[in-house]
This record gives sequence, structure tokens and C-alpha cells, in this order.
Amino acid sequence: MLVGVVGGGQLGRMLALAGIPHGHRFRFLDPDPACPASAVGDVVCGAYDDPAALERFASGLDAATFEFENVPAATIDALSALVPTAPGSRSLGVAQDRIAEKQFFRSCGIRVQAFEAVSTEADLAAACGRVGTPAVLKSRRMGYDGKGQSVVRSVRDLADAWRAVGGVPCIYEAFVDFSCEVSMIAVRARDGDVRTWALSMNEHRGGILHRTVAPAPRLPAHVVEEADRAMRTAIEALGHVGVLAIEFFVTPDGLVANEMAPRVHNSAHWTIDGAVTSQFENHVRAVCDEPLGSTDLRGASGMVNLVGSMPDRADLLSVPGARLHDYGKSPRPGRKLGHVNVCAPDERVRDAQLRVLEELVARAAAPVRAR
Ligand code: AMP
Repeated sequence: MLVGVVGGGQLGRMLALAGIPHGHRFRFLDPDPACPASAVGDVVCGAYDDPAALERFASGLDAATFEFENVPAATIDALSALVPTAPGSRSLGVAQDRIAEKQFFRSCGIRVQAFEAVSTEADLAAACGRVGTPAVLKSRRMGYDGKGQSVVRSVRDLADAWRAVGGVPCIYEAFVDFSCEVSMIAVRARDGDVRTWALSMNEHRGGILHRTVAPAPRLPAHVVEEADRAMRTAIEALGHVGVLAIEFFVTPDGLVANEMAPRVHNSAHWTIDGAVTSQFENHVRAVCDEPLGSTDLRGASGMVNLVGSMPDRADLLSVPGARLHDYGKSPRPGRKLGHVNVCAPDERVRDAQLRVLEELVARAAAPVRAR
């Protein structure tokens, strides 16, 4: 099949790397002809809202999907009229708006923290009065990796927070005092078959995912079951086809849903080397209407993101068991350049491998010392 992917970033690249062995070919719509996915398929170069580019992109496709959730809903609607496209615009619409997302979680019986919609600075003061502090002010739309967010520790921070987010429509949400962050990733096929992967435990630095381990260690079974149940309820309610990710905070009272992504997700990159079928392969299978593959674990898995600067490649490749995934991007502060996966026979070995990798990452990030 010829599969079209809106967006040619690393997620598109890894979708193609998973689908090519099945005989599929890939085409990407991206404004950058040298995007990371250009190494693994054709690129139709154009803006995401350019109807002429969309028509060229859609011509001759057998199936289509997208690799980021900020693609205009109108683009996905137009694409769906031309070619079978998954996920659908319902999943996209919910994930694009943090207020709609929280309301959706609530409608599924999934717990969320107190929140209020904010459109003006006067709204913000009122929301702060009702929700209290500490809290986080986040833009309703177009936010990712901690961008468009500001922490409000007291009412004195309100004016600065409003300026920091650029005075756009926002969500004001209570700060959650969590013990750790986890994400549940699942895939749903067109026939309704749903598979979940092992729960991932995530560590962020500066709002960007730093590392993930799976299965999430030291969590009571009922928390893992709660995440699985929440995911199954949400994915069915959306009628979602493809991979869906939900991020949760773990608190003493159980899980609090933070956000969802209607696409393959950074916290499940470990599945490439740590699961029988990766999130990328199963997403392609779902989009192409093929049977899903087993999501069983291959071992104790982990992933470290390579952000901003690239450690020495030979050093990375010398770590026993390390699997390097380089997205072919030029370094820039805060930019995800690649990740390294490990999959070990047990947690002790996995954690030792991760420690070495994290040291290499820290060394690459350290400023060069004056001699
Ligand atoms: P997000 O873009 O919503 O995923 O936020 C990025 C990261 O900021 C999260 O993974 C958390 O580590 C932190 N964060 C976001 N919202 C909250 C919150 N309401 N309470 C505590 N930490 C938060």
C-alpha cells in the first residue's frame, strides 16, 4: 500500500521504518523537503493548509494518517474525503484543545485536576480565585513539550504568567503533587481490536521527556489496571483507529489524566526494541486495516532521549545492548535528535545500561570547559 503521513518528522520516519518491511511505501506532507522522513519516502513539499499541496499528496494514496496533533482539523477532514484516513477528526479535535480534552476525560469517568477555561486576564484572576495556587497556566491549543506554559505559585505570578503564554485562550489547572508520571499507549484496529503495551514510567526535564522505563516499576497492580481501564474506555469512546497515548500523574489517590496524543508517542519509543510489535508497526497495521501484532514485552525496557546535542556515536554504540535511533536532525537546544533503547533480561541490568547512557547524555549537554 502507499501510505500518506501528514508531517515528516521523526515519528513519520519511524512509521515508515516499521511499515517498509511489510511492503508498504510512504509519502509525507511537510513544508521542509529535507525533513527527517525524507530519508524513507517521498516528500510532497507544502504547507499543511495548502489545498493544492494536499491534493498532490493525496493523489494515489491507499491510506493516510498524521504524525502530530497540531495539523489543522480542516486538512484531516479534506484528506478523509479523498482517502481512508485514521485516526479521525474526533480524536484530533479533542486532543487539540486542552479544555475539550479534560472534559472528555471527565465524560469517561477518568479523573482530572480542577481546571478553568481562561480567555482574558480578568478570567485568569477569577480562575485563580476558584482553583487556587499552585497552578499551571497553559495555552489551550498548539502546546507541546512544556511550551506555552507557566507555573503560578501565588497570585503575584498571574500578570507574568499571562504575558508568558502570550495572552491566548488558556487552561488554568491545579498543580498536581505527583509521585511519578506514567503513560498508557494502546492501538485500536478498525474492527475494534484493542491492544495495550506495558505501562511506561516517564521522567521529564525542562518539560521535555528525558527517559522512560517499562514496565513501570514499583506500582501497585491496581494502578496499572486503572490506567488500562481508562485507556480502553477512552479509545472506545473516541472510536479511535491507530495508536493513542494518555499521560497520567500518579498520586496517593490514584491516577490523574494530564493529556492525550492521538498518535505514536515518545514515551513508547522503547517498543521498537522492547515489544514484539512496536507502536509504529501497529499504527501502520491499524491504518492499513491489517491485523494487529502482539504488544508483549521482550524484556525490561528503557529509553533515553537525545535532546539538544548528540553524544559521541561510538560511545553510545559501545554500551552493551544499546540501540541507537538517530533522526538525522541538526543539533539545536531543546530539539529531539534521537533516542537510545535498551531491552535487558532484568531491571537491574536495564538500569545499569541506562545509567551509562545517561552519563553520556549529560556529558554531551555539559558546556565545554575553558582550558
Ligand atoms: P504537558 O505539556 O501538559 O505534558 O506538561 C509537561 C510537563 O510539565 C508534564 O509532563 C509535567 O511534568 C509538568 N506538568 C504539566 N502540568 C502539570 C500540573 N498540572 N501539575 C504538575 N506538573 C505538571
